[in-house]
Amino acid sequence: MQTVIYAARKIITMVPNRPEATHVAVRDSRVLAVGSLEEVSGWAEPGSDDVRLDETFVDKVLLPGFVEGHAHMMAGGVWQFTYVGFEDRISPDGVLWEGLKDIEAVTSRLRQIESELEPGAPLIAWGFDPIFLTAHRLNRFDLDEVTRDRPIAVIHSNFHLLTANSKALEMAQYDRNTNVMGVDRGEDGEPTGELQEMAAMFPVMRRLKIDIRSLARTEGGIRAYGKVCHRSGVTTATDLINDLPLEDVELMASITGEESYPARLVPVLNAHTAPAGEIAAQALALREKSTDKLRLGSIKIITDGSIQGFTARMRWPGYYKGPDHGIWNIPPEQLMTTVETLNAAGVHMHIHVNGDESSEVAIEALARALRTNPNPDHRHVLQHCQLADAAQFRKIRNLGLCVNLFANHIFYFGDKHYELTVGPERAERIDACATALSEGVPLAIHSDAPVTPMGPLFTAWCAVNRVTSSGRVLGAAERISVEDALRAVTLGPAYTLHLDHEVGSIEVGKKADFAVLEDDPLSVDPMTIKDIGVWGTVLGGRLQPIS
Ligand SMILES: [Zn+2]
Repeated sequence: MQTVIYAARKIITMVPNRPEATHVAVRDSRVLAVGSLEEVSGWAEPGSDDVRLDETFVDKVLLPGFVEGHAHMMAGGVWQFTYVGFEDRISPDGVLWEGLKDIEAVTSRLRQIESELEPGAPLIAWGFDPIFLTAHRLNRFDLDEVTRDRPIAVIHSNFHLLTANSKALEMAQYDRNTNVMGVDRGEDGEPTGELQEMAAMFPVMRRLKIDIRSLARTEGGIRAYGKVCHRSGVTTATDLINDLPLEDVELMASITGEESYPARLVPVLNAHTAPAGEIAAQALALREKSTDKLRLGSIKIITDGSIQGFTARMRWPGYYKGPDHGIWNIPPEQLMTTVETLNAAGVHMHIHVNGDESSEVAIEALARALRTNPNPDHRHVLQHCQLADAAQFRKIRNLGLCVNLFANHIFYFGDKHYELTVGPERAERIDACATALSEGVPLAIHSDAPVTPMGPLFTAWCAVNRVTSSGRVLGAAERISVEDALRAVTLGPAYTLHLDHEVGSIEVGKKADFAVLEDDPLSVDPMTIKDIGVWGTVLGGRLQPIS
């Protein structure tokens, strides 16, 4: 059996006894040994017939392949729509799309794309964020100036809101007499074009045939997601909500089963489509369909909305400035029974909580469920959990829960949280990584791509520096060390996925999954971690350079 020994400038293992090494031996797609050349040669003598010394990485730094514990497969497919976000963004094919700094720039990009569309085709855009464009709120009149002849939907970056033009509103039969929660109105009583959360958005999306979840269901979407992961050094990535009908699972199994598919995928079942008992049965059946590169069996519940959309559920005293549109996507009573049923069945849960009221309700639901059915090693995860305070983290620890905090928010939305949404005090403890660690809570950090771009080095940079887009340090006491941040994008998320025995560190027996970097995140200036180049990845011993 062929053994390859890779020499590297440095190998950062995430293993305390042997945190750094220079050589890793790989056999049968797994790590055979890590250490010095002399040490790994005890297992495989270089120069013997079946042992090869490979120096491809002699000036590179190897880390465990990054694990993205909260992202969405549509991060690939969403690029079939037009990007209109505030920050620069790179498409899966490596094309730079410049950020748009005012509404005029947004409408002019829309006008340009509109001129190239076939007659009747809807114009769909994504990534828009009104919180940065403060002159006025984008409305249907802005979009009507692009065109009134075809429907336009501008999906906001959080995917919890969209803005439609008059044509799209007409198609959904929205007018001054509409009584649907989330259909925003102006002073004249007419819809402004902004639609908040699913109940309001869905009628427009259905008529425009926008099926966000279907972006994850096509071959093209699955392949584009592989590229997104690969570019950022990710070798294991979640798709953190998916209806997972069997034909889709088969498609994913077949595509990920190709040797050249660059990542392991962990799609998580949407718990909102059927009664909890049925979801539990579906999740357990899916678990049996797992393969080497496709892991199934966990579920996702979404409680509230997003903080920057003012749809997160907040405890007293609520939002700092701006309207409270706090929304439950699942009523608290139903959350209690759903969590109880799924926990009793032994199903692993990811629960989206953004505001501190939703964290509180989810913690309570999990506490009750675990009292009734203690479930050792459950590893249920509170996803985002951005506004949890220290007392909530202590409860989270006592219940054995994990958190996956949204560190990228600090850069992208930190200024807005300070000035507008939650105010200075709570903004400084948003995504409180240091508190989570000091209270002993298992920690992962994430991008929620495509909400923010996938890039674990950037996510780690956010947790280490806590610098916002304006350059403010937001909550210096919540900064964590580079070592801890790297753990939170490797072994930390692997733990939240029950995969830490297979991936997340470089040690004997584990999969030979590596992120290959151009520089050493532990020795560069911490402010430049995000700028370190990614050469590519190694997946199960297979070299995958970014071409
Ligand atoms: Zn998400």
